[in-house]
Amino acid sequence: MSIRFDGQVAIVTGAGNGLGRSHAIALAARGAKVVVNDLGGARDGAGSSSAAAKSVVEEIKAAGGEAIAHGANVANYSDVEDMVQQALNAWGRVDILINNAGILRDKSFTKMSIDDFKLVMDVHLMGSVNCTKAVWDLMKEQQYGRIVMTTSSSGLYGNFGQTNYGAAKMAVVGLMNTLGLEGAKYNVRINALAPTAATRMTEDIMPEEILAMLVPEAVTAGALILCHEGAPSRHILCAGGGGYASSKIFETEGVYLEPAQQTPEAVAAHWDEICNTDKQSPLDNGAKQSEKFLLKAQAFLAQD
Ligand code: NAD
Repeated sequence: MSIRFDGQVAIVTGAGNGLGRSHAIALAARGAKVVVNDLGGARDGAGSSSAAAKSVVEEIKAAGGEAIAHGANVANYSDVEDMVQQALNAWGRVDILINNAGILRDKSFTKMSIDDFKLVMDVHLMGSVNCTKAVWDLMKEQQYGRIVMTTSSSGLYGNFGQTNYGAAKMAVVGLMNTLGLEGAKYNVRINALAPTAATRMTEDIMPEEILAMLVPEAVTAGALILCHEGAPSRHILCAGGGGYASSKIFETEGVYLEPAQQTPEAVAAHWDEICNTDKQSPLDNGAKQSEKFLLKAQAFLAQD
């Protein structure tokens, strides 16, 4: 099976560096026309420059591909609308959106300012919301769309000093879960990627010999599967250093406590059973949880 994107148009945000650059180059090499978006600021989001996005566009063109640069700040909806309009002016459609742009403002929660919290939420969460909103109706109308959110192990599992980043990265998973339901009948599929790669984001937190193994291209191999025609929907793919895994949210079977037992003392007494993972299962949507609990309550009432 050859994974190709001929005739398709992709927008990759934050594609001037690191993972986004690698995704954009790979998509173009496999036939996509690519909008290389990058605000071009520092790792903490300060400043801006068009140099990085332009240099990736030159790299793609030199290899025989098609690309345009756009300096939209993904946190700004009117910038994003302009970017999508530029894509439509150039190529008439948008098939793929990879929400990849990101910044870091790490500090323990005690030391973190509300501004640092909000800025990280703005870029990661609202950036993904803005870009997705700007292509959503187009994708629905053309009955085709593939959207990738970039999450992180920091959001999925936690990481000291990253409350802002972790909250934003888990928020994009919530966004994916519901968008996947809303997009399903229009053939719009949404997935999330949890990467580990050597980029300027990670360059000072790991030793050089480890960074050498964490090439962005290994992550991009997974990203391309999440935005290909045969993509799944509502999956979280973890990828790094040649390792690929799927992260899922499961719920334990839990217990039913009859009305007289619905007390904190009884919940505490049943804690091990509540947390027992033997019969855990993923739930297709939020209503399945209420359904599970109500079925147990109804079964109890039916005993009378
Ligand atoms: P990077 O810093 O190399 O690239 C991020 C790019 O996003 C930069 O080029 C930056 O200019 C751009 N950007 C930042 N704010 C922007 C904005 N408001 N509008 C448009 N562009 C903006 O970092 P990276 O490691 O390649 O990160 C890519 C994504 O992967 C991020 O979402 C990051 O959180 C996520 N991630 C990376 C790792 C990792 O190990 N590198 C791990 C988990 C998640």
